[in-house]
Amino acid sequence: MSRLLVIGCGGVAQVAIQKCCQNDKTFTELMIASRTEEKCIQLKNKIESAGTNVKLSTAKVNADNKDEIVVLINSYKPDAVLNVALPYQDLTIMDACLECKVDYIDTANYEPEDTDDPKWREIYEARCKDKGFTAYFDYSWQWAYEEKFKNAGITALLGTGFDPGVTSVFTAYAAKHYFDEIETIDILDCNGGDHGYPFATNFNPEINLREVSANGSYMENGKWVETKPMEIKRVYNFPEVGEKDMYLLHHEEIEALGRNFPNVKRIRFFMTFGQSYLTHMKCLENVGMLSTSPINFEGHEIVPIQFLKALLPDPASLGPRTVGKTNIGCIFTGKKDGKDRRIYIYNVCDHQECYKELGSQAISYTTGVPAMIGTALVVNGAWKKPGVFTTDEFDPDPYMEMLNEYGLPWVVDENPVLVD
Ligand code: NDP
Repeated sequence: MSRLLVIGCGGVAQVAIQKCCQNDKTFTELMIASRTEEKCIQLKNKIESAGTNVKLSTAKVNADNKDEIVVLINSYKPDAVLNVALPYQDLTIMDACLECKVDYIDTANYEPEDTDDPKWREIYEARCKDKGFTAYFDYSWQWAYEEKFKNAGITALLGTGFDPGVTSVFTAYAAKHYFDEIETIDILDCNGGDHGYPFATNFNPEINLREVSANGSYMENGKWVETKPMEIKRVYNFPEVGEKDMYLLHHEEIEALGRNFPNVKRIRFFMTFGQSYLTHMKCLENVGMLSTSPINFEGHEIVPIQFLKALLPDPASLGPRTVGKTNIGCIFTGKKDGKDRRIYIYNVCDHQECYKELGSQAISYTTGVPAMIGTALVVNGAWKKPGVFTTDEFDPDPYMEMLNEYGLPWVVDENPVLVD
């Protein structure tokens, strides 16, 4: 029996909410609140007409405004808040949860909307020097809430999507069941799907393009090594997808895994991209369309990347046209009982199967399912403890079981080809 407030009603939220409705032994009442309430109402109508035991309601909220969220929480009185809006809203929603003493869950770590804000920039530049990576997002902002959440007796579960999220649970699972010592982790994110457009992003374009146009980085012996964007390329033959080019990116779980598994010697993250995607992205970057700094256009202030977002297909609309599969997982090497060991834990997800089940493509699906699972484990007490945590800090077994139960079954290959 629990009451959940979900903030955001985009591609990921639509999957997470429908999955919460499948898990009606945990979630009995759910409020969908977002900036555009019509989307929330449409989703509520869709779920209700298909039939559900969960009591749904909707609200409009501006999650950039802490006080508005506090009013909503105080009136709805949820047991937890699932933030599937944008990373820009993480801190305001955490502040509101703290004020109301309600558990908090999200799928992506904080980054600012305005990267020209001098107050943020000063802290960011000090961090770049101190830590050695230049990504706009990092965990420091949210880890800073540790004491406050502990003292309030509430849980914050950060980054329970697929990557971050499941990839960190795979790591905890490998450490618990397969290794005495993990030496290297390669996280591989392959999208073999084709939506038929020359260029589109599979989740929020602004967040996606910021991430992939940034410098890459990986962790080696506890230190960050930074690379130019797309500087390191490998080719890998993915089970059920085939051979793909993949590129080393900075990714947030590297930071959390580096902190929580300090003996791992190297942690890298690779994502596949087709040549058409990279050519379009480079061209857009060269003409300034990926800029996050506002410009004045005919008397209006516009942010180029936000304007681009308005032109690109809505990721939530890609479902009917996307065919093919994703394969996301981690290759671990290390030692067990004094012997070398290597394993690859991965999930394969079919875009069209996701569309048939929930009307979504596989990127939203592979993020929304773990968002529901992490939330369920906090709400039912299995992963509830005071403080701020990532998904590698809890017992992975119940999460792994729920992945099988809710549509993301995984495989352990005990003799994978390694990435050089
Ligand atoms: P979308 O852009 O599709 O959806 C975002 C939703 O948030 C929209 O409904 C939007 O409202 C709402 N929103 C935005 N700003 C506000 C605000 N100020 N107040 C209230 N609501 C707001 O994004 P996705 O669904 O693709 O992504 C959701 C989250 O999931 C992001 O944080 C993303 O980074 C993360 N993600 C994580 C992954 C992982 O594996 N860990 C993978 C993919 C995504 P409106 O409808 O009005 O635009």
